[in-house]
Amino acid sequence: MAIIEQLTQDFLRTKKLPHIWCPGCGNGIVTAALVRAIERADYDQRDVVIVSGIGCSSRAAGYLNFNTLHTTHGRALAFATGLKMARPELKLFVIMGDGDCSAIGGNHFIHSARRNIDLNAIVVNNHIYGMTGGQHSPLTPIGKKATTAPRGTLEREFNLLELARGAGATFGARGNAAQPRQLEQLITRGAKHKGFSIVEALSPCPIAYGRRNKLGGPVDMMKDLKENSISTERAAGKEDSELEGKTITGVIFNYEEPEYAAEYYHSIGKEIPVKSSG
Ligand code: SF4
Repeated sequence: MAIIEQLTQDFLRTKKLPHIWCPGCGNGIVTAALVRAIERADYDQRDVVIVSGIGCSSRAAGYLNFNTLHTTHGRALAFATGLKMARPELKLFVIMGDGDCSAIGGNHFIHSARRNIDLNAIVVNNHIYGMTGGQHSPLTPIGKKATTAPRGTLEREFNLLELARGAGATFGARGNAAQPRQLEQLITRGAKHKGFSIVEALSPCPIAYGRRNKLGGPVDMMKDLKENSISTERAAGKEDSELEGKTITGVIFNYEEPEYAAEYYHSIGKEIPVKSSG
């Protein structure tokens, strides 16, 4: 059986398909990269939990054949934290959209990073609230239009990875839907990291964001994503002026610090479970 068919059969709830995503949306590509990364990490399927909030990308939890938690808007990291503390042996991947993670869930995000709890956040950044009506999020670039910013937003966007780093996250990487193999590798590296990891996945939303901002169709948006990205290796040594308008992809930071669940179990004199009881 071809690899793709095997992955589909093993890791997707095919009865839940077809998915709800619009033609040209990047959510499916990011979801596929996550599936391949989990396969690559060689985890037992029963030990993997996908946690998501609310939004287009968060619908992925319904399609994935692992333990899944589809939670409330902005609260995915809070649910995941509770689960990780109770069952630290589990491998948790938390899928969030840009608004879900950095606005409604912003407080959970900075404190998850601060604790350095061993969760793997995958933030699908399409610069807009897609499902709830095209409102601007803290990751909508300044000047871009949204239903809540018809003349263009006046607010500067967060640099999500720098926000995470400043709050205490120990692994941060950025990829995009136009370069899915790199994205898969970054998610795998984040999964293997001990502590709070975040992978920002830039992804096109041609419907709620692209149309309103006249960015062309899905192919144009994909092309732009690819052409405007530069890897950390290629960016090294370049002047700021040469990087103007470019988005750096790859591992942006990677540190070692004590992990919260392990520290907690140690503080109460218990061994942290490392293997699932099944
Ligand atoms: S609204 Fe945007 S993000 Fe949501 S499914 Fe459609 S293209 Fe994707």
